[in-house]
Amino acid sequence: MKRIFLILLSTVFAIAAITLVIIQISQMQESAKMSDNLFNISVNNSIDEVFTQLDQMKVEDYVSQKERYRVLQYQRIDNFNERMQDIIRNNSEIFYDEDRVQFGISTQDSAHRLPNAHLTDQEESIIAQYNTLLSARNRLMSNTNYSNEQYKNMVSNHSVDPTKLNFPLLDSLIREELIINGVDIEPTIGILETNKDTLYYCSNGSDSSKLRSTPYRYTFHANGIVANENLFLVLSFPSSPIILTSDANKYTVLSIFMIVLISALFVFSIRTIWTQRKLDEMKTDFISNMTHEIKTPIATIGLACEMLQDNSVNSDNETRSNFINIINDENRRMRVLIETILQSSKMANKNFSLTLREIDLNQEVMSALQSFQLMIRNKNGILETDLQPITSVLFADQLHISNMIHNLVDNAIKYSPDEPHIKVSTCQQGEWAILKVADNGIGISKENQKHIFEKFYRVHTGDLHDVKGFGIGLSYVSQVVALHKGRINVESEIGRGSTFIVQLPLA
Ligand code: ADP
Repeated sequence: MKRIFLILLSTVFAIAAITLVIIQISQMQESAKMSDNLFNISVNNSIDEVFTQLDQMKVEDYVSQKERYRVLQYQRIDNFNERMQDIIRNNSEIFYDEDRVQFGISTQDSAHRLPNAHLTDQEESIIAQYNTLLSARNRLMSNTNYSNEQYKNMVSNHSVDPTKLNFPLLDSLIREELIINGVDIEPTIGILETNKDTLYYCSNGSDSSKLRSTPYRYTFHANGIVANENLFLVLSFPSSPIILTSDANKYTVLSIFMIVLISALFVFSIRTIWTQRKLDEMKTDFISNMTHEIKTPIATIGLACEMLQDNSVNSDNETRSNFINIINDENRRMRVLIETILQSSKMANKNFSLTLREIDLNQEVMSALQSFQLMIRNKNGILETDLQPITSVLFADQLHISNMIHNLVDNAIKYSPDEPHIKVSTCQQGEWAILKVADNGIGISKENQKHIFEKFYRVHTGDLHDVKGFGIGLSYVSQVVALHKGRINVESEIGRGSTFIVQLPLA
């Protein structure tokens, strides 16, 4: 898959996933808002119903029959006034036309056409309509002894005496109504007089402060008449009742689940696609490097053989032994290479196990280094050794330890472009055998040091140090060390060289 196509695919995927998540979240918010509204409506309906019941049961006769009748009459007068004012407002061109109509500003006044004025039938009928309402209202007013001031006082004086309220009955009525209206959250109920800041009743003492600031506040009323403007029935609920019905609950849980699922699927898919792509790249790199690494020694061996066959070139012993050395050297490199690939893949198998036996680490180092002598000499390098005696016994797999040493020394030479100075040392430190392979090569940055032991990881050295490899040598070495329950570290500085330190436990 092309990189640009992958980026495009990831972007489209990300946009789709984000859009889906946004839709889900906004739907959740919408449904939470709806639930909230539904909740408020249910609570309000319940309380309305409670007041109706209280009124019917005359539990607290807070608005007496006589007073109630008077208030109703006043409401009717008010209603007449409003209707008359509407007529005047909508037909001001008739009522305020002084040439045709006589009309006073006082509400008591009736409207009359002027003797010679010309009025249409419709205009006449509007004035008649107004006058009819006016006389009806005036009749009501004279019956009830109407006074605006009195009306207001009357309404505010219908105080409920809070101490006379039957709290247990009120409490149980409210709870019953709430359940009937689908509110299955237990409320705290209270009676609050705001001007005195007194809480006459509170079903749950610890929630009293919540009751003072709750939005669920209702005045006591009967037939639309407020009984006491300062006395409130107050309700509070344990937490913001966002989700009310079990259906809403189900959908929210489902939405959250979908959001998590979509996000996880998105991350998983993109990661898989990218990993797949990286693996593809690695595979291609591996095959091309492998071909190169094997082709070169084969070509060199072939050339050396040709030379050996040519009697005119190999007449003297020294030249002949030189060619044989070249063949040996290239053969060794191929062997280590193939051995590393083979053993590394074997180790990936679960059933893999080491063949442990007592080995002499110094001996292994010596025999491995022998095959590098010529190579270092050809590069005008120096190979230094400092092999201290190791007195305790080292149980290890000889094949893998030998491969490990080959890999470390091979890398030390490979990554030292100018005359390599390689130092291989061993020693014993307590219960550990220590092997150090140091070089004066290109070094490894701190960032790369964290990754060089990963399989297929290669540092991009650019054209300057075009060294071929597979990126499996060090991963194999670290696998060998781990299987021997040892440790491996690297100390390195760019441009100054690297030292690989292997610690193997002694018996
Ligand atoms: P490769 O086949 O690339 O050598 P390795 O697993 O042996 O793979 O090494 C991984 C990377 O570590 C190499 O690409 C190289 O950049 C870096 N590296 C290993 N040994 C040395 C060293 N002695 N000096 C500098 N860099 C090294």
